[in-house]
Order: sequence, then C-alpha cells, then structure tokens
Amino acid sequence: MTVVSTTPNSPGAAPTSGATILVVEDDEPIRDAVVRGLGLHGYDVNGAGDAEAALATVGRRRPDLLVLDIGLPGMSGIELCERLRSVGVDVPILMLSARDQVGDRVAGLHAGADDYLVKPFALDELLARVQALLRRARATAASTEVVVAGPLWIDVDRRRATVDGSHLDLSRREFDLLAVLAANPDIVLGRIRLLELVWGYDFEVDTNVVDVFVGYLRRKLDAAGAPRMIDTVRGVGFVLRPGRV
Ligand code: CA
Repeated sequence: MTVVSTTPNSPGAAPTSGATILVVEDDEPIRDAVVRGLGLHGYDVNGAGDAEAALATVGRRRPDLLVLDIGLPGMSGIELCERLRSVGVDVPILMLSARDQVGDRVAGLHAGADDYLVKPFALDELLARVQALLRRARATAASTEVVVAGPLWIDVDRRRATVDGSHLDLSRREFDLLAVLAANPDIVLGRIRLLELVWGYDFEVDTNVVDVFVGYLRRKLDAAGAPRMIDTVRGVGFVLRPGRV
C-alpha cells in the first residue's frame, strides 16, 4: 500500500480551487505526476496506491473528487466505484482507463463514474475534466429547485424524490436522469442530449446507457405506484409526460 502525501502549491501557480482530490492509481510515476500536476493548480491532493488505501482515506476525510484508475491490484477501480456509491459517497469520480479497456469504461459508467479519461492523457485535459466535474457538482449543490410532475416531487437540492409522498429510492444517476426529464416536461430529449445533461459527456459513449437507466427508473416508478410517465419516442429519445394521470 502506498500513500503519497499532499503536494504543496508552487508559489508561481495561481490556485483555482481549494477542492480536495484523491488520486487512486497503483502506477507510481503516473500517480505522482497527477498528484503534483493538480497540486500545482491549487488543489489539495492525496494519492492512494490501491482500493484499500483509498477507502481508508475517504473514510477519514471525504474528498471533493476522485481520480480513479480502473486497473488496480486487488479490488479494481470499478469495484471500488461501486462500493463507494453503495455507501452513499456521491462525489464526482473521474475514471482513468487504458486505451483497450472500452468495455471497462462502460462498466465504469454503470458503476457510477461521472467521466473517464484514456491513458496516456495530457495534464491539461485532466485538469479541464476535473474543473468541469467540480463546477457541475457545485451547480447541483447550489440549486434549490423542486420539480413537480403529477404525483412525482423532486427536491433537487436535497436529492429526494417522492411519489404521492412516499420516498423513491434512486441511485445518484437515476435521480439526475429523472430530475432532467421532469424539469423538461413534454419535451423529447435525445439520448445524446441526456448523456450531456446527466453524464456530462461531450465525446463518444454507448448511448445504450440511457436506455438502461430509463429502464431502471420505470421499474422503480412503477413499483412506487406512479402512473407511466416516461415515454420512448422511437428513434429520438425520451419524454416525461406529467399530465397523463
Ligand atoms: Ca493502474
């Protein structure tokens, strides 16, 4: 187990954020470079060499963002991501993957990762993704919106959804998808648009992910006794129709 300590800011670098970031990567040169690079941009960065060390660090102090390599010894990055999500750690997770791990990247998204970067990558690219994820997380946290769609109430700020007053148990991504659909009632949203809004991708990813999550949502809404609200518009995308009650 290797834990790299925080890298101090260089005097010449203008700090852009005091956010804390945990970099989980067993490849020491890559980890050190990422820790140092992010540290130079004003982030408070720690490193962990495996999933166990990462869990211990997150348990002590939850970071604002995780950079998580898929290929780790022992518990993989995907398993670690699943584990963190299952215990309610909902901070943004940026996955790192090797070029030939396309299947793993999709698995990572299903496991709850927010974005991924293919190795090797430029530090500027990593920095841009990190900044975007942190901005998005802050924007979500700052909103105080309650979206009402028929019997469905979505408290965006407290991340709570209810059907006729009963709590709907949703994963983070399911919640985000439902919130976006409900905030755009009777408007058909394409798969790519939903990927951008919910997953934040501006690059190629399996759009089947949207269908899978819509399926999860429908089952949960159905089980909660909500009327069928999310329609598939063949060849286009999905729409939430709150008026059909
Ligand atoms: Ca690795």
